[in-house]
Amino acid sequence: MPNKRERKNTSPKQPRSRAKYQCPNELNEIIAESNKIPADVVDLPKWDYFYEKIKEDYLTEEGNSEYDMGFVSEIKFQTLEKVFSLLPEDLKDHLNEKVNCKFESINRASLEKGEDISAQLEANRHEWLVHYYRFYEHNRSNLRAIAKHVADRRAGKPLGFFSVDLHYSAEINENNKLAPKAKGLAALLVGIDLDRIRFCEVCGKLFWAGRQDSKTCSDKCSNRLRQRRFIKK
Ligand SMILES: [Zn+2]
Repeated sequence: MPNKRERKNTSPKQPRSRAKYQCPNELNEIIAESNKIPADVVDLPKWDYFYEKIKEDYLTEEGNSEYDMGFVSEIKFQTLEKVFSLLPEDLKDHLNEKVNCKFESINRASLEKGEDISAQLEANRHEWLVHYYRFYEHNRSNLRAIAKHVADRRAGKPLGFFSVDLHYSAEINENNKLAPKAKGLAALLVGIDLDRIRFCEVCGKLFWAGRQDSKTCSDKCSNRLRQRRFIKK
């Protein structure tokens, strides 16, 4: 499929932009994952916001204290229900699917030792859903923030305050200096040309621009863009 697009997407104005810049594979997956929900869903619910809110409500109720048994789990469960009630079905399915995959791979190892832990895993499903949701929201919102900032710069718009929330840890190296180390999404983004992470001009989805002049995510969208231009003329 991508080969087809390369051949079609030939603007004579920028001959030097032909060279293909490959998207690192893992990043490609995260971009594809981000598009599993409609592009017009701009912001997903922030887990921390709901968690704090629900925790506050819980603690103001008479007789509840932070030292209650199962506090964290109970609040997490309530928060998950609240957050999930706001998500599109597709995304819920996708997250459950990820959890299923994880359970399968964990349980496979224990089945080899003759033990079936699927029921134990299932009992903790909500913990896993929280974990995957937080990653999902983190990756998607950061990629979108980056794509927006870079698009504004490309368009010569005044640049607003730019803030992404990427994960770094730090080591003390042999010279006793602090050495930051990128983790997760940050590790995938260090050193890459962020201008290649873009919003499709037709459907609004995130995509990796294999070419400098790519404006759309797919053949379908690039045809539609051409039709639009044709109608304008
Ligand atoms: Zn598109």
